[in-house]
Amino acid sequence: MSDSLFTKIINKEIPANIEYEDEFVVAFSDISPQAPVHILIVPKKPIPTINDAEQTDAELLGKIILVAKDLAKSKGIAAKGYRLVLNCNEEAGQTVFHVHCHLLGGRRMNWPPG
Ligand code: AMP
Repeated sequence: MSDSLFTKIINKEIPANIEYEDEFVVAFSDISPQAPVHILIVPKKPIPTINDAEQTDAELLGKIILVAKDLAKSKGIAAKGYRLVLNCNEEAGQTVFHVHCHLLGGRRMNWPPG
């Protein structure tokens, strides 16, 4: 199977505005921001959808949330609030089949989401 778009960003084959990177996770600005802060937190391991996550991925998935929390703080949106979103498969609107968590903030969010 060919590399996902996000694997190409991880491998620096496609440019992105990287906000955070470590051995396991990379975070970069969404190319089509839906809020003043819109960052994608992506595991370097290419898990296609959250349906494909396994028990052995538990620490990695937890790390994604902690990176999102730290980014929310550094972007100054932690106190007011923000939203974390993981879209899974077509009905949820997943378009890139490499697990990623959206960090959205800097404006009031609606509920229920669209
Ligand atoms: P999803 O719809 O949950 O699969 O989210 C995929 C996200 O990736 C969308 O919000 C897109 O705007 C974003 N995206 C697509 N291509 C790029 C890119 N080259 N760099 C950064 N974000 C991207």
